[in-house]
Amino acid sequence: METKGIVFNIQRFSIHDGPGIRTTVFLKGCPLNCRWCANPESKAPHRELLHTEKTCVHCGSCVAVCPNHALTLEEGRLVQKREKCAQCFACAKACPVHALQVEGDVCTVEELLVEVKKDEAFYKKSGGGVTLSGGEPLLQREFTLAFLKRLKAEGMHTTIETTGFASPEYFRSILEYVDMLYIDCKHPDSAEHERMTDVPNERVLENLEYAAAAGQEMVVRIPVIPHFNDAPEVTRQYIDLFRSIHIKQVHLLPFHQLGLAKWRALGQPYLFENEQNMKKEMLLPMKAMFEAAGIQAQIGG
Ligand code: SF4
Ligand code: SF4
Repeated sequence: METKGIVFNIQRFSIHDGPGIRTTVFLKGCPLNCRWCANPESKAPHRELLHTEKTCVHCGSCVAVCPNHALTLEEGRLVQKREKCAQCFACAKACPVHALQVEGDVCTVEELLVEVKKDEAFYKKSGGGVTLSGGEPLLQREFTLAFLKRLKAEGMHTTIETTGFASPEYFRSILEYVDMLYIDCKHPDSAEHERMTDVPNERVLENLEYAAAAGQEMVVRIPVIPHFNDAPEVTRQYIDLFRSIHIKQVHLLPFHQLGLAKWRALGQPYLFENEQNMKKEMLLPMKAMFEAAGIQAQIGG
């Protein structure tokens, strides 16, 4: 049977996800549960409903068509009982104002290839290509490997943006088809990493170390999150770690609130509801600490 993937977004003319002009393909599903995630709709590895309360006119059309009684109108609000939902998406079709939308499209490798090849002329002119992001692109193991192989067979430049949380065997098999690797290091301490992402970091660090030793072209990214990894003592831990595994370059990504509306649309609690966007200047001391330790640091990515 042909391998199929679930894609939740395709972003054209991207200039921040690798060299040149790129198409970034966002694959659905992530094994981590980062509390600050900017794409919370990417976490579930299946298609799902997104409800936008401010668009909803509370007409009840969706409630009427749901065969599983998974939707109710309570005190003027639409309530989803996710455990009852069979993902038939009759409700989204019935909604007259598109307040209910389906996240995730199912496609084959060849269908996705046709899509990304539409901008091939721009990749060629600019030295760009295709970036796989997520979610976690390495979660859809077979699909991602097959797609990367196909892109390389077409002579395209490939980049992946990954949490690094994958089995070392699979990670190593993927690198053969990856020109540029962007890999996160969310916290140098495993217990802290697990507290805010639900997974420890040993596997991530093993993959990071392997990629660096293999001479993989790569950038390590640190999403800088308030009260989690933004303190100077954590930067010192990062520096010790990176020196030990010969990481020479990091990108510091300031915390932002772009995910806020999506957490609300999914009806999920969001820990950073009251935090402000981090200004780039706030990361200058962290950047200076890395650079004093001989690790090149850039704010933003
Ligand atoms: S997707 Fe189907 S089962 Fe789920 S809430 Fe909508 S109509 Fe009901
Ligand atoms: S059909 Fe659309 S507008 Fe009507 S209650 Fe459902 S989500 Fe709201």
